[in-house]
Amino acid sequence: MQKESIDILNIPFVNKTKDDIVHDLYNQYLKEEKKAFIVTANPEIVMRARTDTDYLYTLSKADYIVPDGIGVVIASRLKKQPLIERVPGFELMEELLAVSNEHRLRVYIVGAKPEVLDKAIGNVKEKYPNLLLAGYHHGYFDDHDETVIQDIEEKQPDLILVALGFPRQEKWIKENMPRVQKGVFIGVGGSIDVLAGHVKRAPVIWQRIHLEWFYRLLQQPSRWRRMVVLPQFIIQVIKSKG
Ligand code: UDP
Repeated sequence: MQKESIDILNIPFVNKTKDDIVHDLYNQYLKEEKKAFIVTANPEIVMRARTDTDYLYTLSKADYIVPDGIGVVIASRLKKQPLIERVPGFELMEELLAVSNEHRLRVYIVGAKPEVLDKAIGNVKEKYPNLLLAGYHHGYFDDHDETVIQDIEEKQPDLILVALGFPRQEKWIKENMPRVQKGVFIGVGGSIDVLAGHVKRAPVIWQRIHLEWFYRLLQQPSRWRRMVVLPQFIIQVIKSKG
């Protein structure tokens, strides 16, 4: 039997295929109107949790932590506890939008720059015409500003996409989720930028050879600083083996 989760540097990653995760999220949470907190975690997130105890605590409140990023899958292989597959956050978000479209669920989007969000909303309406767009708000608001969560409380969406970048999006979800009765909350990082066509995903061939991260770096060279944690992450995984 497959292990339900695999620990990478004390972060429990769900060991399921993307399809199984989507199936569970629909049947156990969305359909049942239950709440869930989903984290799409890459090595940068795992490394952040090692030095930011508040973030580690936040992640401990997640219902699902999915392995977004080939680095996490490589780490699981090094530990000889291989994760079944990588679950790219963007693809998980797309699948959840498709499920919402199929079942006419209510979707709320928080995050990204106003003009990027507007474009993304236009694309969502075109691609998923049957889902009910409950509301949306750009991501440049103060953490103490209650406007967004009050709007979510009122609109009662089923799915809430939160694109505030890590660690802010996960901390925001943990702080605000207790205020609502239902809803699957997922931190989606830069996925709204991709949905808007503002940032492009790597061509499939790059994805297949696991170089999506490199393509992203070429598109946004300013991200190189963030990449330096990758070798540190692998070193920590090797050290923790045993
Ligand atoms: N963002 C936001 N509010 C902020 C900081 C970031 O809405 O205060 C948005 C930003 O515009 C982008 C996303 O959050 O759409 C973060 O994208 P990134 O690729 O940096 O994601 P990460 O890998 O940091 O999760």
